Amino acid sequence: MEPEITFIGENLDRLVSLEMRPQGKDQGGIRRLYDAARAKHGEPITTLAARLLAEKVKAGDVVFIATGAGIPDHLPFGETDGPLGAAALALGVSLGLGAVPILVTEAAYVPVQEATCLAVGLGIRTPEVAEKVARTCAVLPFPADDSAPAVAEELMARYAPAALISTEKLGPNEKGVTHSSTGRPAAADRARVEHLFDIAAGKGILTIGIGDNGNEIGCGTIREAVWAYKEWGKVCQCPCGGGLATRVATDVILMAGTSNWGAYGIEAALAAVLGRPEIIHSEADERRMLEECVRLGGADGSTGTHVHAVDGTPADVQVGMINLMRTIVTNGLKPPRKRAF
Ligand SMILES: [Zn+2]
Repeated sequence: MEPEITFIGENLDRLVSLEMRPQGKDQGGIRRLYDAARAKHGEPITTLAARLLAEKVKAGDVVFIATGAGIPDHLPFGETDGPLGAAALALGVSLGLGAVPILVTEAAYVPVQEATCLAVGLGIRTPEVAEKVARTCAVLPFPADDSAPAVAEELMARYAPAALISTEKLGPNEKGVTHSSTGRPAAADRARVEHLFDIAAGKGILTIGIGDNGNEIGCGTIREAVWAYKEWGKVCQCPCGGGLATRVATDVILMAGTSNWGAYGIEAALAAVLGRPEIIHSEADERRMLEECVRLGGADGSTGTHVHAVDGTPADVQVGMINLMRTIVTNGLKPPRKRAF
C-alpha cells in the first residue's frame, strides 16, 4: 500500500484503540488485544479492512453488517455502541463502493437501527428496492432461535454478499455459549448471526470483525490473547467452562476502545483508500445519530442509562473522534507542501 495510506492507517488505528472508558482493572486490556491482532495482520488494521473491502466489493454488491447487543431490563433496545458504527459503515460502503448495505440485528432493535441509519442520511428500503436506489439500505431482523442456521443459508443464497462486517456483536465460544463481558451467559434473545459468518468462512467471502472486549464476533482470530488477557476470557462465571472468548474468527479483526470508533476508523480508512475524504460522515451526523439512537431506546452500555453517551464517554467524544479522523485523512492525503516562510 502507498506509504501515505499506511501512515493514515497507523494514526487511525492509534485513535480507535485509545482507552478512555470506565473499565477499572481492565485498563490496558484493549491495547493488548489490539497488539495481538496487529501482530497477526502485520499492517494498520483500519486500512487493511478498507483495502480488502475496496478490492472485493463491486458496485451493486450486497454487504451484510451485523450488530446488536442488549440485555433485557437494562438494555431492552440495545446499546448506543453498535448501531452508530453499523450505520456509518453502511454509509461508507454505499457512498464509497456503490454497495447495497443490508444490516441484520435483533428484531426488537430494528427500529433503533433504522432511525440511526436515517440520521446519517441513509434511506430505509426493502433489500430489493435498496438494490435499485442509491444511498439506501435495508435492516432485517435475524432470528435468536433454532431457525437461525436455515435463515442464514437463505440470506446468503439470496443476496450473495461480497463481504460481511460485524461490530459489537457477541459470538459463542466453542461450547456454543455466548457470554457478556462479565463472563455470564448472554441474553437468550441474541440474534445468532454467527451462522452467517460460518457460511462466509466456508465460501471464502471476506469477513471483518470489530470488538472492544473479546467476546465479539471476530475475536476468535485472537482467541489465545483473549484467554490470556481478559478477565473471564478462559474461565467464565457460568457452568459451561469455556470462557467468554468467542470461537468465531474473521479475516480481519479490529479491536477498538469502543466498537463504534473501530467502525468509524474503517469508514475513514475507506475514504483514504478511495481518496475521497468527503464520504466520512459529519460531526452533525454523528450527534444526530446518537440522539436518534437514544430517542428510539438505545442506552449507554456502560451504565444502562438512556443518556447521550457511548460506553461511558460523552457525545462530544464521539463527535471529536469524527473530527480527528477526517483531519487525519484529509491532511494525510494532501501533497507535500513547501513553506514559503
Ligand atoms: Zn460459560
